[in-house]
Amino acid sequence: MIFLDNASTTKIYKEALDEYVLQSEQNFYNASALYRNGSQVIKEVNKARQNIIKLLGGSSFDNLVFTSGATEANNMAVNGAIRRDGTKLVFSMAEHPSIYNVAKNLENAGYKVEYVNLTSDGEVDIEDFKAKIKGASFVSIMHVCNETGAINDIKQLVRIAKAENKDIIFHSDGVQAFGKVQVNMYDLGVDLYTISAHKIHGPKGVGALYIRKGINLKASVFGGGQEFGIRSGTENTCGILAFNVAATKIVKNQKENFEYVKGLKTAFINELTTDFNPVINSTESCSPYIVSFAVKKVKAETILHMAESESVLISNGSACSSKHTENRILSAMGIDKDTMLSSVRVSFSEFNTVEEVIQAAKVIKETCIRYIKILK
Ligand code: PMP
Repeated sequence: MIFLDNASTTKIYKEALDEYVLQSEQNFYNASALYRNGSQVIKEVNKARQNIIKLLGGSSFDNLVFTSGATEANNMAVNGAIRRDGTKLVFSMAEHPSIYNVAKNLENAGYKVEYVNLTSDGEVDIEDFKAKIKGASFVSIMHVCNETGAINDIKQLVRIAKAENKDIIFHSDGVQAFGKVQVNMYDLGVDLYTISAHKIHGPKGVGALYIRKGINLKASVFGGGQEFGIRSGTENTCGILAFNVAATKIVKNQKENFEYVKGLKTAFINELTTDFNPVINSTESCSPYIVSFAVKKVKAETILHMAESESVLISNGSACSSKHTENRILSAMGIDKDTMLSSVRVSFSEFNTVEEVIQAAKVIKETCIRYIKILK
């Protein structure tokens, strides 16, 4: 089996799994318990918290709240930061449903919400951003798009937003960026940043929200007051400590992995475009981890199932929106409907080999050529 759906989830690192098992067997105590075993666990969790802040390039004065994943962290960021003061909230057209649907919900509740357009490359349109950011008090723009791999210049967007309103709160969804491209909170200047463990070879069900010093968030889950009262509930200590192991490993190898995966992307596209004419939606400047492309006349689902029948697993967009026929992101990039309906996504990881991705490209190409011939 060739797994090319790493933007949806990844195989856990052996080291992270070992940590999960070790913690579950030997250190399973409740982090809030008053006896020493409990206080030892919370100490370890706090060490992991500081380490992940450091991996993110934050300072020891910043904070990080562990959550059940990026969906929860994204909901927490928006709902915790916004104020009902009549000011605007700004999002991009490319946001993951865990941001976009929160935005839609707030719009329905009477908030003033604006959506920034995308360029044909899938990045946030800077001119449109400049126009829409005026009068806004909160903005959320994803770092790397999960469907196309487009990378937004968050540093520049933060600069523009803060020049308009120095008190604006800037959130970025960094799920497809952290551990894959260079990420540094000090450099980016964001106030809030979301990450998820299972996208970086950690366990499922753990994520985190980075919170810059001085940013106050309203509580999102009420209860026993864990996680600074922002997110109550017994901490997923084993998951958090395994997340820390995965994050440490992937950040350490980020540059090397990036170059390796760039090679995979090149090999895949070279094979796919030899004697074949797919439409490549992801540009050169996109993250090498994600390639969106279309084979005209063949529906995305057909491409996906033909590949699956030859043991190649790919996606027809993000797993979270795979049941929708209209693709909001490709549509915002100005991609025509036929291409949109024929667009699939492959996404790589360090576990993939060059041989695998060439084989996958051959399978996709050959099955599509056969299918198109039958259509004629
Ligand atoms: N944001 C982005 C950009 C994603 O790709 C995903 C996963 N599809 C999420 C948020 C949600 O992550 P999680 O599965 O951890 O809730």
